[in-house]
Amino acid sequence: MIPCRDGDRLQDYLDGLLPESEHRALRTHLERCDACRSELALYERLLERLDAIPIRDPGVALTERILDRVVPSRVRARWTSAIGWSYTAVSSALTFVLISWMARPGTSAWLESRFADLYFQYTSEAIFTLHTLTAALLQVGDGWGLLGVIGERALPLVRAFALPLASPMVVGISSLAAVTAALLLAWLSPHSLTSRILRKGERNVEVVGF
Ligand SMILES: [Zn+2]
Repeated sequence: MIPCRDGDRLQDYLDGLLPESEHRALRTHLERCDACRSELALYERLLERLDAIPIRDPGVALTERILDRVVPSRVRARWTSAIGWSYTAVSSALTFVLISWMARPGTSAWLESRFADLYFQYTSEAIFTLHTLTAALLQVGDGWGLLGVIGERALPLVRAFALPLASPMVVGISSLAAVTAALLLAWLSPHSLTSRILRKGERNVEVVGF
């Protein structure tokens, strides 16, 4: 049988995607074209078979199995509770240390002078920045000169922002937060060492239900 070029439109015909006039024309064409008629019959049989295939709902059991592959639920519960308790303990200890430190007689005076210094520094840096931007706007003709001016003027600002990092307390708390975040991220990563160790010895998920 010679293939017919109208055969290309049969799928759209079945899906009802053809405009009304084309649909009617193809129906008339089908009455006298054997090639298209037999192709249409094939399509219809295929669709019938596809409709007959039952759709299996994997349900919540599959989700639970996939999650269990990442981290088994018992381990998950244990880790969540361990992290919760550690976080509570660490934050309580830090709060205690912070309050003790602030309650010391010398601290209040130190903080006041520190804040006064910082306030003065930030204000002057803000004025500096404003001044720099104004100067930069005036020198807008020279691109590299502009960058140079900004870099030169921004350096004290960077230093001012770096000043709090000189305090061991700030560095300690920031480092602890960073380490905790890194550990949490590593633990959540499916390729991490912990996950691999936890997964060891478990069999593979053989059937994914969809
Ligand atoms: Zn045809």
